[in-house]
Amino acid sequence: MAKKEITTVEEMPEVSTKTVSKKEITRVEDLPGVGPKTAEKLAEAGYGELMSIATASAAEIAVIADLGEGTAAKIIIEARSALNLGFETGLSALEKRKNIGKLSTGSKEFDNLLGGGIETQAITECYGAFGSGKTQLSHQLSINAQLPKEQGGLEGGVLFIDTENTFRPERIMQMAQSAGMDPEKALANIHVGRAYNSDHQLLLVEKAKDLVKDNNVKLIIVDSITSHFRSDYIGRGTLANRQQKLNQHMHALQKLADTYNLAVYITNQVMSRPDMLFGDPTAPIGGNIVGHQSTFRLYLRKSKGDLRIAKLVDSPNLPDGEAIFRVTTEGIKDKE
Ligand code: ADP
Ligand code: MG
Repeated sequence: MAKKEITTVEEMPEVSTKTVSKKEITRVEDLPGVGPKTAEKLAEAGYGELMSIATASAAEIAVIADLGEGTAAKIIIEARSALNLGFETGLSALEKRKNIGKLSTGSKEFDNLLGGGIETQAITECYGAFGSGKTQLSHQLSINAQLPKEQGGLEGGVLFIDTENTFRPERIMQMAQSAGMDPEKALANIHVGRAYNSDHQLLLVEKAKDLVKDNNVKLIIVDSITSHFRSDYIGRGTLANRQQKLNQHMHALQKLADTYNLAVYITNQVMSRPDMLFGDPTAPIGGNIVGHQSTFRLYLRKSKGDLRIAKLVDSPNLPDGEAIFRVTTEGIKDKE
């Protein structure tokens, strides 16, 4: 007997609200009821991503993949629940926000700009010119994340994805010592993955789940998010492809941030904008994808000597503003 077509939410069987208990679904092939053959048929018809399945109708999927509509509907529901496309009440959203941790930058003024520090469950992007302090901040955050909560830490480990070969254990030891930590213990809590190209970078994040769980990782750093993408996808013909991969990368990071209540700090290079005659002729790389998917955006620039200016460019709940801090041998400090 053919089942009635499911066209509205009300007609759907109970939507699963379980998000963590089951094996995590990240690809179409992972969906229960989708074998390799089905996945291939779907991909060929342009339904190679969970989102395209989640937003399709059961009738469409049934025809494309040669399935009954009931099975197709179940697959769609699984895709929706994997992407967390359901609703939650304002109260449960508030409850989730109560668990948000704030990670200190090392400077009070900088922390105040951020409403207390770098938030967990969010992606904080920092862009700026060469030498503006993006990598210095990444090192300082790697130390601070390990501190007790009362000291602005998150009491966890760090996953550091290094794409520009600028991670320096010596610098970590130097900053750890100034923070009164055992330098070797501090290093042992930082798991560094050197990404050799953009695909490798994606893979490191996609495979990070176990490492995150086993080491109570509370901070993920990607320094920098765009450099490999910039060099791997040269020429306009591959731009759409690059943006799609970047999108996937940002989604994977946000998912880790949500699932494990951890902070994500990514850095971004800037390119010069010769078309801009007035103001600051620099723009972050990655276009809308990186910008829209970062919860907080910071723009760093050099000032006199070791002074740096951080500008909050985009935040869902904080006013834009600026903070001045210092990059010293001891690490990130307040200006006075
Ligand atoms: P980017 O934004 O390109 O990642 P960095 O974070 O690498 O920039 O910043 C480099 C700058 O940080 C250097 O030019 C220097 O001013 C400062 N810096 C780096 N190491 C130290 C140190 N050990 N002591 C003091 N300042 C340092
Ligand atoms: Mg750097």
